[in-house]
Amino acid sequence: MSKLKVAELFYSIQGEGRYMGVPSIFLRTFGCNFKCEGFGMPKGEKTDEYLKVQPDLYKSYQDLPLVSTGCDSYASWDPRFKHLSPLLDSEAIAIAINEMLPYKRWKEEHLVITGGEPLLGWQRAYPDLLSHRLMLGLKEVTFETNGTQPLSKEFGKFLTNSFNYDEITFSVSPKLSVSGEKWEDAIKPEVVREYEKIGYTYLKFVVATEEDANEAEQAVFAYQNAGFNGPVYLMPVGGVESVYYLNNRKVAELAMKKGWRYSDRLQVPLFKNEWGT
Ligand code: SF4
Repeated sequence: MSKLKVAELFYSIQGEGRYMGVPSIFLRTFGCNFKCEGFGMPKGEKTDEYLKVQPDLYKSYQDLPLVSTGCDSYASWDPRFKHLSPLLDSEAIAIAINEMLPYKRWKEEHLVITGGEPLLGWQRAYPDLLSHRLMLGLKEVTFETNGTQPLSKEFGKFLTNSFNYDEITFSVSPKLSVSGEKWEDAIKPEVVREYEKIGYTYLKFVVATEEDANEAEQAVFAYQNAGFNGPVYLMPVGGVESVYYLNNRKVAELAMKKGWRYSDRLQVPLFKNEWGT
């Protein structure tokens, strides 16, 4: 039976993108190919805030401190925290999900597979989980990805054979220079074009300034040149309220100016972006 290293598994409201407001199960896998140490920092600088969190002081995600700079889900990829992410088989995950569903079966809820980066090696484990008897009735699945990982042939085929096009969503958040990652590592138009052949796919850029939005525009050109045809969202930087409220209105205005959609990050005002929300 396939296993997944599970950083978090929880039931909440989707705060971002296409399914904003929809009750959702979140399966957060462990591991990421990026660090995004630039978020919330002056241009060109990197945070060390998460490095100051002492892993041995914490027994669960719920106890971990939030950070105002860098990746807000740092513990889902920093190897120092891997002891908090158990390796679970698909049976254990499906049972845990079933327990969380309010009617103990899928109704309107949707499944978000997030990370870290959920399309790393874990692709080989998803078919087992998504085909489990307790997952029958699940109609909508979103992969929240940074858009750098090609789909394996087998996994692409599984998704196409098991779901209708519109039931699979790739919420792609390409990392701009505000993240601290390099363009050549982060912007992979051909990869995203392949997702678009399998499911509904959109781009969601995390930005703070007009300069970031202009950089997003350059990236959108690159994706469109590769044939990408989906919607574009701008979402404000801000894993904590103080940073989110500095950015949200300005980013909404930038989205209007560019003719793109605005994505909130409702988990911040609703739940303070605590772990497990
Ligand atoms: S890609 Fe996402 S999960 Fe990975 S480091 Fe960046 S923000 Fe965090």
